[in-house]
Amino acid sequence: MPDYEPDKKELASRDVVSRHMEYHIAQGHGAKSRYGDHIWLDITLLGKKHINRNLREVKEICHYFLGIDPTRDLIPVRPAQHYSMGGVRTDHRGESTNLKGLFACGEAACWDMHGFNRLGGNSVAETVVAGMIVGENIADFCEEPANELEISTELIEQFWRRENEALDDIVNSNGTESAIELSDRMKDIMTDKVGIFRTGEALQQAVDELQTLLVRSQNIGIRGNSRAACPELVKAYRLRRMLKLAICVAYGALQRTESRGAHFRQDYPQRNDAQWLNRTLATWKSPADTLPQLNYEQLDVMQMEMPPGWRGYGAKDHIAHPETEARQSEVDKISGEMDSANRREIQDALMPYRHLLPTMLQCSNARLGENE
Ligand SMILES: Cc1cc2nc3c(=O)[nH]c(=O)nc-3n(C[C@H](O)[C@H](O)[C@H](O)COP(=O)(O)OP(=O)(O)OC[C@H]3O[C@@H](n4cnc5c(N)ncnc54)[C@H](O)[C@@H]3O)c2cc1C
Repeated sequence: MPDYEPDKKELASRDVVSRHMEYHIAQGHGAKSRYGDHIWLDITLLGKKHINRNLREVKEICHYFLGIDPTRDLIPVRPAQHYSMGGVRTDHRGESTNLKGLFACGEAACWDMHGFNRLGGNSVAETVVAGMIVGENIADFCEEPANELEISTELIEQFWRRENEALDDIVNSNGTESAIELSDRMKDIMTDKVGIFRTGEALQQAVDELQTLLVRSQNIGIRGNSRAACPELVKAYRLRRMLKLAICVAYGALQRTESRGAHFRQDYPQRNDAQWLNRTLATWKSPADTLPQLNYEQLDVMQMEMPPGWRGYGAKDHIAHPETEARQSEVDKISGEMDSANRREIQDALMPYRHLLPTMLQCSNARLGENE
């Protein structure tokens, strides 16, 4: 059971609401259902008029997915993951820092529009902004003759043969492990030990168990022997990759001895900018490895327009980066001296970025009256 008493003043944050719910479920106060324990949410007190007019989406979700009317019924709710922080590490153009010609944007990318942590409601914004900027960069990349990719037919055939054999190996295997059972166990480990409440002890257990599952996944057998429309084969084919990703998350979380955004460590409740203002990069060196290699990319606080600080919600309790105060004074000084400057000039003085955009997006924004 989590050793945690939520602070009611913090309940404006979705992460904190989730923690609160998980806490009560873990204490045995959840309502039972065949999908697991949940909490009842009562919004009837808002009134039919308000729900029908202002919460239409909530009403429709309740109606279509649960067959209930939230103007008179209680809604069964429980915390669920609705975003993955991190992804393919890219540069400002959206191109992978490791593999030329691989671009990523949106939830799949680590592109940094919002820094380490996605603030509530911002992920759709990221997909739209990244779609505009990265999409343009992809088009520019493709137009450049030097970027023309020469991939031989032989290489494509090699890849096709490898994956084809991998599928055949699963279908013809006499393995005794079930992909469905391993996958269910992976889900339980991730929910119970790498969920909202995390401790070093539980994360270590998760890493150990996931490694065992990865080894066991070498010995998967499926019940049918057909490659056509076989969900068990699809699961078996994807499982090893999913386990590796789960290990990256659990192992990265184990090493990170602090709490940051939605990453909450009960044994290290403070955000620690002094030690952990860095990005975790996980690399799998060899196919036989059961743990990735972790490296850390440091951030330069002195280049930031807005050095990390307290943003007005949650407890004002973190270990500051040693350069934060100096950078904040510098930012205050520069912006103070530029009292009459426009938004662009201040931005350029603090953290110039316009030159990093695709050419067609470097212009001023007429809708904000910047051309006048
Ligand atoms: C329940 C829930 C609530 C959310 N609430 C909010 C919110 O309030 N505000 C907010 O900003 N964000 C919210 N989010 C997050 C936001 O919806 C997502 O981060 C965003 O939609 C991700 O967009 P994307 O285009 O990057 O990825 P996706 O929308 O996941 O698009 C990826 C696409 O790639 C396709 N695909 C996958 N694999 C392959 C393949 N091998 N070949 C071809 N295609 C493939 C998928 O089918 C999919 O269409 C929520 C998410 C969930 C799940």
